[in-house]
Amino acid sequence: MSAPITIIGSGFAAYQLIKTIRRTDKLTAISLFTADAGDDYNKPDLSHVFSKNQSASDLIKISSKQFASDFNVDLHPFSRVERIDRVEKNITINGIKFTYSKLVLATGADAFIPAIQGDAFTEIITLNSLAEYERSQSKLVQAKRIAIIGAGLIGTELAMDLKQSGKEVVVIDPCTSLMANMLPEFVAHSLQKKMCKSGVVFELEQTVNALNKVENGISVQLSSGVTHYVDCVISAAGLKVNTDLAKQAGLKLNKGIVVDLQLKTSDENIFAIGDCAEINGKVMPFLQPILLSANILAKNLSGEPAELKLTTMLVKVKTPLMPIQLAGDCVIRASRWQVDIDATGTTVKAFNEAEQMVGFVVTEERMKHAFPLLKQLNN
Ligand SMILES: Cc1cc2nc3c(=O)[nH]c(=O)nc-3n(C[C@H](O)[C@H](O)[C@H](O)COP(=O)(O)OP(=O)(O)OC[C@H]3O[C@@H](n4cnc5c(N)ncnc54)[C@H](O)[C@@H]3O)c2cc1C
Repeated sequence: MSAPITIIGSGFAAYQLIKTIRRTDKLTAISLFTADAGDDYNKPDLSHVFSKNQSASDLIKISSKQFASDFNVDLHPFSRVERIDRVEKNITINGIKFTYSKLVLATGADAFIPAIQGDAFTEIITLNSLAEYERSQSKLVQAKRIAIIGAGLIGTELAMDLKQSGKEVVVIDPCTSLMANMLPEFVAHSLQKKMCKSGVVFELEQTVNALNKVENGISVQLSSGVTHYVDCVISAAGLKVNTDLAKQAGLKLNKGIVVDLQLKTSDENIFAIGDCAEINGKVMPFLQPILLSANILAKNLSGEPAELKLTTMLVKVKTPLMPIQLAGDCVIRASRWQVDIDATGTTVKAFNEAEQMVGFVVTEERMKHAFPLLKQLNN
């Protein structure tokens, strides 16, 4: 019997790949090893668990056992892969070796925690996986006051959701506006204004100098000298791509595990997909590039060569007080904006120096224009 296709990880990338393979091929042996429980859940739902009063188990769509049976996979939960031997084509888990025919790394990314002084540093919570939410769930539910480090997409979504569930929330970020690398400042200011009105406190242009345990909580000392007292601190300061295994195996790395348009790493029998993969110099930690990648990788694994064609994707910002959709680049490459604002919302088109449209942002009722604008952007 030939060795199986082996997948490491059980996030959206791994499971989307398996679902795609099984649409046409019910029989090829697939083994999967994952460090976590392997239950199938939708990670973006973590952005609104507090306002919806959902527990970690509420988010599980299919248990790992059911997934293994539904999709004919030899699934090994709680099995952290320690080593890849590219010459012998095997992986090691708890000292036991398992051979592979083709290997897929879907190891994702970990939440980045900035180095901060103080004895409450180890109390920092991250919410980048179901297991992380499960671990901190009761602490977060009981907490009345929460500090969020990072006002990017995830930090902003979490802040609004926690506020809507009745918590006091303070958001700290070194940038001058929230979601600074995605939103033009004036759009970010409108969102900030709505969030402030609902009671969220923003400490922008600030870093956290120290986190210390105090009676009844944690003191959060800011670079300005201001101190906030909270019950929990969440880090939403970005991601750190999970490249340890790939590094040990000597695969080519840059910001992530470097793959070509066939999702192939520097080893022809090893592929990478999802938050851990770097395609065309970019790591794209979103569902849509994973969906497209899964279609291509399923074909390549079945011996039908195919190449990924990436189009500009739509990003939905899950901030119900001011829902936003955006695509392309409205900040770095934009040399001018065309802005249309009224009571129904905002439409911003960004143009580069050559007067080509390079991105757009639509808010509230203007979101109905997102798809036509996306089409325009992709032409
Ligand atoms: C709060 C939140 C909201 C989001 N909202 C959106 C959104 O609205 N839209 C959107 O497009 N994207 C969103 N994202 C991003 C999106 O969810 C991710 O891009 C996607 O889920 C990543 O999937 P993945 O499979 O690549 O990685 P992961 O889900 O991180 O999976 C990695 C897997 O690898 C396993 N693993 C790692 N190392 C090993 C090892 N050595 N051995 C065995 N197993 C290992 C882990 O246990 C895990 O199962 C959001 C993310 C968060 C955190």
